[in-house]
Amino acid sequence: MEKLLAETAKRAASYLSSLPERSVGPPSASIAALDQLGGRLPDAPTDPAQILALLDDIGSPATVATAGPRYFGFVIGGTLPAALAANWLAGAWDQNGAMQIMSPVGARLEEIVLQWTIDLLELPEGSGAGFVTGTTMANFTGLAAARTALLSRAGWNVEEDGLFGAPPIDVVVGDEVHVSLLKALSLLGLGRSRVTRVPVDSQGRMRPNALPPLHNRTLLCLQAGNVNTGAFDPAQQICPRAREANAWIHVDGAFGLWAGLSPQYAPLLAGFNAADSLAIDCHKWLNVPYDSGLAVVRDPKHLQAAMSISAAYLASSDKREPWHYVPESSRRARAIELWAAMRSLGRDGLCELVERNCRQARLFAQLLADAGFSILNDVVLNQVLVSFGTAEQSRAIIKAIQDDGTCWCGGTEWQGHTAMRISVSSWATTDDDVKRSATAIIKVARRILVPGP
Ligand SMILES: *Cc1c(COP(=O)(O)O)cnc(C)c1O
Repeated sequence: MEKLLAETAKRAASYLSSLPERSVGPPSASIAALDQLGGRLPDAPTDPAQILALLDDIGSPATVATAGPRYFGFVIGGTLPAALAANWLAGAWDQNGAMQIMSPVGARLEEIVLQWTIDLLELPEGSGAGFVTGTTMANFTGLAAARTALLSRAGWNVEEDGLFGAPPIDVVVGDEVHVSLLKALSLLGLGRSRVTRVPVDSQGRMRPNALPPLHNRTLLCLQAGNVNTGAFDPAQQICPRAREANAWIHVDGAFGLWAGLSPQYAPLLAGFNAADSLAIDCHKWLNVPYDSGLAVVRDPKHLQAAMSISAAYLASSDKREPWHYVPESSRRARAIELWAAMRSLGRDGLCELVERNCRQARLFAQLLADAGFSILNDVVLNQVLVSFGTAEQSRAIIKAIQDDGTCWCGGTEWQGHTAMRISVSSWATTDDDVKRSATAIIKVARRILVPGP
């Protein structure tokens, strides 16, 4: 075992050190070579060292270098050194995060990380949280608590009696709602289409004057950090009205809520502390390994009511039992890496990470605008939308950039425009990486835009 783990560390370190200079997207030959990992499963066992070598030799070249410094697709962070190290140790620990008795360290770290998150983001003291796989599940978990709370006000027990015959819940979302929130609504029986979509402005923010009437069975879903523009719904204008109507306020704050780590960006969160539930991603901007997200609920009793495996279990412990806050029973103890990430950076390091990535997003926008390309969004956070002209031109340039390999950016549709989206979310990205990437993008774009012979 010891030799194997030492060899693993060596190979992993050499993988990571190759990332800054290799193509960010994998070459198609490496993807094709993955077939070598298949074939008929051998009858005889294979030595673990050989398995590791096979996985590294064939698998590593076919990875996308999302752990490297120049991956700007979707919203994808890297992995902080302390978080990766903690992840390895956690793998060795093999802790089941479901219960106190299965993993005291896993359970305690959840409590510690929850309190740190409450302090850092100035969330309501006493909030409960579930440690889930990401924001899709955090939305699901927070919305499940909302469903429970809204229906219990009407005397309906959704856990016991289901939704058939239940009083209706009115779900309100912004027109730029993230698809994962709609998926969560569909899983909860609330329906993807059975929603009121509130018109949005040019940045994707809900227009407060277009809100429908709110009441005490309204589930209002706000967004803190639009996946394309980084913009925040105007919570300061909306939340007091929702509170007055006794509606439930859910916030999809996958990456945007981390703006609260910086005094400079925290004003973007004004008003959001009125939320009843919040979904936060950790594998994005907090830069921990997959999979990791947080569902935070102001009144933990609704979360517990929605997630407890049964009322009897709930009564069995006065300690915080992790599995009463999440959909799963057995799961990995993912607070371990969160603890390591937060503890290693400290308040200052966390603030620096957010401020640096935001500054780098502005640098990207500046360099591309100076080269004559259009920036489609107000760069308020870490997201940049660039248009290179027509939809065809933008699509061709995005593909050429991915093939070029210096960096990786994806495409998106933004209010009728095809655009390239740049998300700066990694601890590993330096200003030099931004300049090098912008230079490559400009070069590729000019080559493609040059009129043919
Ligand atoms: C990424 C994202 C999600 C989905 O998060 P996963 O971690 O992929 O499940 C939801 N909402 C927003 C705003 C996001 O950016």
